[in-house]
This record gives sequence, C-alpha cells and structure tokens, in this order.
Amino acid sequence: MIYFDHNATTPLHPAAREAWLAANETLIGNPSSPHRVGARADAALSAARQKLAAILGCDALDIVWTSGATESNNAVLTHAARTLASDAEIWVSAIEHPSVLAPARHHFGERLRLMPVTRAGVLDLDWLETELKKRRPGLVALMAANNETGALQPWSEALALCRSRGVTFFCDAVQWIGKLPSRGLGACDFISGSAHKFGGPKGVGFLKCPAKGRVEPLLLGGPQEEGRRAGTENVPGVLAMLAALEAREAAMTAMAPLENRRSDFERTLLAALPSVEIVGATVPRLWNTVMALMPEADCQQRWVVKLDKAGIAVSTGSACASGKEAPSHVLGAMGYSPAEAARALRFSSSPETSASDWDGLLGALKRVAADVTKG
Ligand code: PMP
Repeated sequence: MIYFDHNATTPLHPAAREAWLAANETLIGNPSSPHRVGARADAALSAARQKLAAILGCDALDIVWTSGATESNNAVLTHAARTLASDAEIWVSAIEHPSVLAPARHHFGERLRLMPVTRAGVLDLDWLETELKKRRPGLVALMAANNETGALQPWSEALALCRSRGVTFFCDAVQWIGKLPSRGLGACDFISGSAHKFGGPKGVGFLKCPAKGRVEPLLLGGPQEEGRRAGTENVPGVLAMLAALEAREAAMTAMAPLENRRSDFERTLLAALPSVEIVGATVPRLWNTVMALMPEADCQQRWVVKLDKAGIAVSTGSACASGKEAPSHVLGAMGYSPAEAARALRFSSSPETSASDWDGLLGALKRVAADVTKG
C-alpha cells in the first residue's frame, strides 16, 4: 500500500517506538507518586518538557501534556469562555479544524466571529488589521497550516498584530510541527500540537499556555500539570512524542527540497488531466500536501475506493470530514461551491515518501480517471 494520508495520521517513527518501549520498561511509576519510582517518571516528564520548550522557544512550565490536539483546542476555548468578559468576542479563522470551531461555537455562539480567508485559503490579514483598529476581541485563533489544503497561514504576522493591540493569540500548530521548524511558535500565547501527526503515537499531544496566571482546566479531579490538566500523564507517549519530534527537527533541512517532488507531481498531473485544479496553488503550502479538485465522477467517493483498490490510500479532505455528506467548510470559506468542493482529493506525504511513490500515485490517478469519468 502506498500511503498518501499523512495529514490524517502518520506511522510510528522508529525512534518513537524505541522511546515508548523503553519508557514502558523502565519508567513504570506514576509521576505524582511520592516514591523514587514515581520521581523517576516525573523527572523524565520534566526533561521532555525542557526539550519541547527549547524546540518551541518558550518556558518549560508553559507546557501541559494532553491526549492530543482535540483536547488541547477544547481546553483553550473552555479557558477563554471561563475567563473572558461575558460580552467578549472571539475571532477564529473560518478554516480552523472542527476541534477549534465546534467548541468556539459552543462556548461563544453569537460572540464568535469567523475571520475570512482568500480564494487561495490564507487568512485575510488586511481584514484582521482593519477590524483590530475598530474592536478588541478576547482571543484570536489562527492555525499555522491548514490540514486540508496545506496553505501556510500568516500566524507570525497575525501574532504581531494581536500583540500590538494586547489581544491573546492562539495557534493550532498541529500540521506545522514536525514538517516545518517549530522555533518561534513559542511566542504565541497558546499553541496546540499532536504527536501522531509527526511520527509519534496516537492519543498524546500538548498545549503551550501562559505559565503565569491561571489557566482554567478542561479536566478536573487531580493536581497534575500544575492544576491545569487532571489525570495521570501518558509518560511513554510523551517520551515517544519528543523522540519523534527531535528526529523530525533534525531532518528539517532534508525536508525542504521534498517540495520539488510535490511540484513535479502537480505539473505532471495537470498535464495528464487538464481539468484538475490544484487548490491554493498560488500560495506557500506545506511541502507534503496537495489538494486537487479532480475531474467530475458519477460518485466522488469512487475515486477513494478505486485508488484504495489500486493500493493507494488518499483522503477526500480532512479525515474527520471524510465519509460525511457535508462539503469541506474550508473550501466553502475559500469560495468554492459545494459541487466543486465535492471534487476534492487530498494527497499528503511524509519525509519517507519516495519519488516512485509519487509516480505510483500519478499512474493510479490516470487509470482511475479513465474509469470513473467515462460514460
Ligand atoms: N487540528 C488540526 C489542524 C488537525 O489536523 C487535527 C487532526 N486532524 C487536529 C487538530 C486534531 O488532532 P488530534 O487527532 O490530536 O485530536
């Protein structure tokens, strides 16, 4: 099977597997326990906290371990709902992941303003600059890179605008971390990350939040993580996450040229199937992501099924949205019609994806196109 769905999840990196197994053998204690077995586990968590803080550029105490980004994102919105004034607005980009949008809607209802994006799927910075001169929201949320299109967002410019107005800035950096250097993200007030997007295990992630001042916990019932997240920490998961991230950060310079493979693929795909449209083609995107509007088929899901049969795993959009009838809210926010959005396929690679894997995908797409679009 050729796997082109790394934005949905990644296989475990060998370094992560090793760290996970070693932690299960040697760090059996509960980090909160008062004996030395517990203290060893706690010390390992502290060391991991230091390492992640150094990678992001923040304080070790800013880091809270979580079960993944869905939890981290819910924690940020819950904290905002409990601490902001009852009439405060929050501004959230229209292309955020549902794990940001749904809790934002839940907690803020009418006080949620969606920030518009361009046709290429990038936050409209002029809009943000203009609106910030008129009003001061309690929170601005902008992801670092979009999970469906791969479009890089101007998070550092948005952060600077928010800083100049004293507005709290939250960045869901799930798709950025491990694909692009994480340094500098630590300047955001809140950041969420998830291990399984960069070779770590599923079910573990983190939230970077301000160490000073109270963070209202989402999970209650324990003093762990300085009272910011109750529950016994997933020590092997955290250590495996850091091993995967360190491996990815060390390989970062080798990743940048991989963009050429993706560009070659896009060029040859467009030459073979001229009715294809590459979404966000005009803007900087993650080196691993292609969202393509494919030629119309009698049933779009057939693309995925036929490619699957041909040994290629792809997605119709975000994993969470796949299989649902509703068209992608991301493409909707970019101005695509539901019919256009229904033509979307997403191909997402990893540092291990070879040129011949991309060729295999291209060949399969040509064969399936001849099949699903005829008659
Ligand atoms: N945010 C983004 C941008 C994502 O792509 C995802 C995963 N699809 C999440 C949040 C949720 O992460 P997790 O699977 O760790 O809950």
